[in-house]
Amino acid sequence: MKEMPDILWLEEIRKEDIPAVGGKGASLGEMSAIGLPVPRAFVVTSYAFRQFLVEAGLDKTIFADLAEVDVDNSVDLEKAATRAKDAVMKARIPALLKKKIKSAYEEMEDSRMVVAVRSSATAEDLPDASFAGQQETYLNVKGEKNLLFAIQKCWASLYGARAIYYRAKQGFDHQSVNIAVVIQQLVFSEKAGVMFTSHPVTGEQQSIIEGSWGLGEAVVSGSVSPDKYVFDQKSEKVVDRLIANKRYQIISSGENGTKTVEVRKDIQDAPLLTDDEVRKLAAFGKVAETHYGVPQDVEWGIVGDNIYILQSRPITTIRASAQATPPAETGTEKILLQGQGASPGIASGKVVIVRDVKDTGIVKDGDIMVTQMTNPDMVPAMRKVAAIVTDEGGMTCHAAIVSRELGTPAVVGTKTGTQVLRNGQTVTVDGEKGLIYEGALTISREKTRAVESIAAPVITATSVKVNVSMPEAAARAAATGADGVGLLRIEHLILGLNKTPGWFIANNREEEFIQELYRGIKTVLDAFYGKPVWVRTLDAPTDEFRNMAGGETEPIEHNPMLGWRGIRRDLQSADQFRLQVEAFKRLWEQGYDNLGIMFPMVSHPQEFIRAREMMKQWGVDVDNATLGVMIEIPSSAILIQDFINAGIRFASFGTNDLIQYTLAIDRNNQHVAGMYQPKHPAVLALIDSAIQCCRENGVEVSICGQAGSEPPMVKWLVEHGITSVSANIDAIAKIRETVARTEKQILLESARSRNA
Ligand code: PEP
Ligand code: MG
Repeated sequence: MKEMPDILWLEEIRKEDIPAVGGKGASLGEMSAIGLPVPRAFVVTSYAFRQFLVEAGLDKTIFADLAEVDVDNSVDLEKAATRAKDAVMKARIPALLKKKIKSAYEEMEDSRMVVAVRSSATAEDLPDASFAGQQETYLNVKGEKNLLFAIQKCWASLYGARAIYYRAKQGFDHQSVNIAVVIQQLVFSEKAGVMFTSHPVTGEQQSIIEGSWGLGEAVVSGSVSPDKYVFDQKSEKVVDRLIANKRYQIISSGENGTKTVEVRKDIQDAPLLTDDEVRKLAAFGKVAETHYGVPQDVEWGIVGDNIYILQSRPITTIRASAQATPPAETGTEKILLQGQGASPGIASGKVVIVRDVKDTGIVKDGDIMVTQMTNPDMVPAMRKVAAIVTDEGGMTCHAAIVSRELGTPAVVGTKTGTQVLRNGQTVTVDGEKGLIYEGALTISREKTRAVESIAAPVITATSVKVNVSMPEAAARAAATGADGVGLLRIEHLILGLNKTPGWFIANNREEEFIQELYRGIKTVLDAFYGKPVWVRTLDAPTDEFRNMAGGETEPIEHNPMLGWRGIRRDLQSADQFRLQVEAFKRLWEQGYDNLGIMFPMVSHPQEFIRAREMMKQWGVDVDNATLGVMIEIPSSAILIQDFINAGIRFASFGTNDLIQYTLAIDRNNQHVAGMYQPKHPAVLALIDSAIQCCRENGVEVSICGQAGSEPPMVKWLVEHGITSVSANIDAIAKIRETVARTEKQILLESARSRNA
């Protein structure tokens, strides 16, 4: 390699500098040179990386090791990757290089020293090798120490299992692949997204722009459904506009990270871009495309009136003829599902629902892989399948990009693919039209165009969530298509350990307890990725702990049901509460923003306030955490306004207890079972007034007691304005139907009364 500087500023870079600054760096340099609004950046070159490898002696060890690996053996591959990454992370950055990086960073003063650090591999971003997510990106990096750490992480990412696998399969030699790192002023986009400067499937002269509120990561990762604008370059008009419900956004969390928060209600459904902004973006895109001579895949962000072009790389997969050969038609096509045609072609096969990368082991050649959203770990499986269907994402999500590159038909953003389609079911995927048909069909193009009515999935305005107690039931619960988890009872998880929380503390095995909790909850969060999961803090009565190790120290209570359980126990035994909070905290730190915490057995707002204060003391960002309460003691229903004033984000009726405490009927006592009435007028009065109060205050109000799995009660609840219900796994289908029917009846009746 010829001598090159360790650091290059964007202004010094041209597209021929790929060997030094990688595809991303070179592309940014070119963009800035042609006058596009690129945020300030410098690149730690591949030369600097090489020097680092050589000075640390890693060039000798790593490459020899990688040459031996059988990449099709995933255990070997993982081990080799871990060895290589560890070696990179442990090695020292040469002192002179460190100094140069620090002084370049200091020069970026106007960036408020907050930068994005992105790897820029010298083989990445090139035609035929654009595997999205292959290497690292760190947003919001602040301070020299964090910057150096992020750079080293980027270097290490060159030796991730995925990257090693791709290189081996694509015939790249590990030795000749280098990595540069781009350090760029972070633009705190108010809205952001991606743009294809020509249609990525047909190559037409259209700019396809997708965007959502907040930072662009949400759109790139496919974790939100973005707005989509199609700008026709000939007529210079916006010819298509799809405004999505943009409920969540990723924003800076102030420290070295980002967080997902709900978008302000009034702008969730508002168009993201004005026509003028679409036109300007398209114009910038065209400048880039013209300059590079090939259509570009551009990341953009907008702050106030300023448009920034954040990244640009060639679209690698526009084909002159994207049409699959239309086979003969049978005339019996039934459309099961619709989404966006992200990668053209028609394929039939057996559905395999992939909920987790672990499921990819069951994927066989020729299957139809159906998944919420693909991620880089799934790529080996994506290679095998005949077609890919995802619930989420747009034309630029991971699944779309990789499928196009693999030449695999794909339909993305079906919303309900993983619910509507069943494992083993034979379907036909049309990756151009975005349709999934029942059976192995032969379809003519005209016929698919002529199809007009598409079966709509059952969508209810009232969310229908599911109750989960054991993490192993999470997948089955998720398979119901529930809108989230309205109650995760963690005591089942803890009871399964056969030791009381006190035992773990007394035996100095706190970490073990935290880990068990963390793992169990994570299983559920993963199964419900992107959907709310309300985890309830410990609520086991003392008699249930009695027979476990440590049970001998549990107090003996005459009436455990009215005793030391729920939040009252946690507030008095801070150690036990702290261990639970530690597990929650780790999950939040891992980015599980779908985690909400629900306190059981609250009877006074002070209990909520105290619990939140304790969480805050233990380092939880309580202002941004979703914290709510169960309403299962009449006092909490009566004082609901005070709870709302105290800051609860949601409330959920625990009718199992609410009924027993309102009517003085032991829920477990068969002698009085006949008097245990969910629809007792006193119970309904408490519920009704609490619902109205929550609604007036914009607080989500739900039910997670057994009554939420009973159609007549659910009908009443929907009529009285409940915002969500959470039912048992087996009841989801009938509850969803009850909710849908009740909602329709309400609409019908209101239409009739208007006409009367
Ligand atoms: C309830 O009381 O309704 C409830 C859901 O909690 P549990 O059944 O666990 O007491
Ligand atoms: Mg209860």
